[in-house]
Amino acid sequence: MRQLRTRSWILLGVLAPLGMLAVSGLMLLELRRETWAKAEQTSRNLLQVIDSDIVRTIAVVDRSLLAVIANLDAPGIEDIAPDLRQRLLFGPAATADHLAGMAVLDENGDSVFDADAVPARRVNNADRAYFRAHKADPDLGLHISEPIVSRVTGTPVIVLSRRIQKPDGSFGGIALGILRLSYFTRLFDRIELGGLGAIKLYRRDGVRILRHPEAGPGSAGAATFARFGGAESGGFVARSGWDGVERQHTFTRVGGLPLVLDVALATREIEAGWRAKALVIGAVVLALCGLAIGLCLLFGRELGRSAAMQAELTRLSRTDPLTGLANRRRFEEAFDEAWDRAARADGGPLSLLIVDADHFKRINDRHGHAAGDAVLRSLARALAASIHRPADLVARVGGEEFAVLLPATDAEGAARVAETIRRTASRLPAGAPGIPAVTVSIGLATGRPGVGAAADLYRRADAALYEAKATGRNRTCSAPAQTEPAGARGILSLVGAA
Ligand code: GH3
Ligand code: MG
Ligand code: MG
Repeated sequence: MRQLRTRSWILLGVLAPLGMLAVSGLMLLELRRETWAKAEQTSRNLLQVIDSDIVRTIAVVDRSLLAVIANLDAPGIEDIAPDLRQRLLFGPAATADHLAGMAVLDENGDSVFDADAVPARRVNNADRAYFRAHKADPDLGLHISEPIVSRVTGTPVIVLSRRIQKPDGSFGGIALGILRLSYFTRLFDRIELGGLGAIKLYRRDGVRILRHPEAGPGSAGAATFARFGGAESGGFVARSGWDGVERQHTFTRVGGLPLVLDVALATREIEAGWRAKALVIGAVVLALCGLAIGLCLLFGRELGRSAAMQAELTRLSRTDPLTGLANRRRFEEAFDEAWDRAARADGGPLSLLIVDADHFKRINDRHGHAAGDAVLRSLARALAASIHRPADLVARVGGEEFAVLLPATDAEGAARVAETIRRTASRLPAGAPGIPAVTVSIGLATGRPGVGAAADLYRRADAALYEAKATGRNRTCSAPAQTEPAGARGILSLVGAA
């Protein structure tokens, strides 16, 4: 029972902290999931804002290009004065902040109209990829160039262009608008990306137009672009091969344009807040768990110790200190138990021997009390060695008097045990130098719960012992078998009468 409680405490000491760990672990995981969801939502919101700004800006430039091309066909345009014609052709869009210029090139790539100069500055752009692309493909529509350095302004730009068709359908040159890359830089600058985050703008064919903040040499972003897999939008986590930083990417196609935007936030920075919280919570929970385990183990150990102490006390309270045998109290308990068990089973038999050392007083007188004690101890050992069944019990019930309880043993069996004891006792000193010789007298009684009372059995054995003493000692006397029903007078009265 006590041991069970000890074990329960130890179990509780292990289970409670485990539960605590599991709950806080789940909580932290949930917190982490929320952190990520928030980061992804933030990236999507950023993309939306940037996306609509870029779409609006490029749409304004494209409308201007279409207007220029339409104006070129206006009747009588050839006859107007050049500076008026220039203003008419390009309209107010040409003065937009982020536009580095607008121009019309003829089929040879020579600039014929220029939004910023009359007459047009002399430039030939026949070698530019956008010019060649329009020349080769009449259905290109709005073309967005890769980033280039403007020949006119010397700044990094992209060129938006549309093809001019001659009346016969052949290539008639292009109208182009030059968009400063600083437009994007300024747009992206307003966005909080953390120290390691980045926004990237790609052309649909994989050419990177811009990374903000600007990356050092070696960062082409090709691996990242490959991860988009041609999808319209999506997200993934990837470690950059360039700076080794792991980032959460969220990308989307920009409006209907051949552009892809990618917001990349460093996972380290996304999780920084969570990590700090997790560290504190984890440390506190671990400390609490350690405390709980420690306390439970301590408590369990104390319980175990006090249980062991209690058990030892119980054992001692039922043990005779001189011989280590069961004492009188233990004998009485065992006697009652054996009697009840015999009563519950088939009614017996149950035998009892009372063994008493002969003339023991003399031994004490001649050899001293210590020698007497030694005799009692060796006698106890001999008695204990004479019984073999687990249910048998030897107890020291008086100074030099022992009782041997033999459950489920009839008179014959008990007599055999008694004889073994008597003989062994008489030979005792042979093997133990310094121990005086001793003999024992034994009273034997066998009872059955159905026939006699428990107390009768002891009285009958005692009376038989008295008889053994009276008839010369160093012998066993058996009480006569009891035939009367329980409660009838036993051998005591017989002996008393003798
Ligand atoms: P009998 O043969 O009639 O039994 O004679 P006896 O001397 O053995 O019987 P009695 O009852 O007169 O004396 C018992 C003696 O046992 C008295 C006491 O000194 C001795 N005795 C009792 N307990 C102890 C003990 O623990 N140690 C020692 N050394 N002697 C004990
Ligand atoms: Mg005696
Ligand atoms: Mg005695």
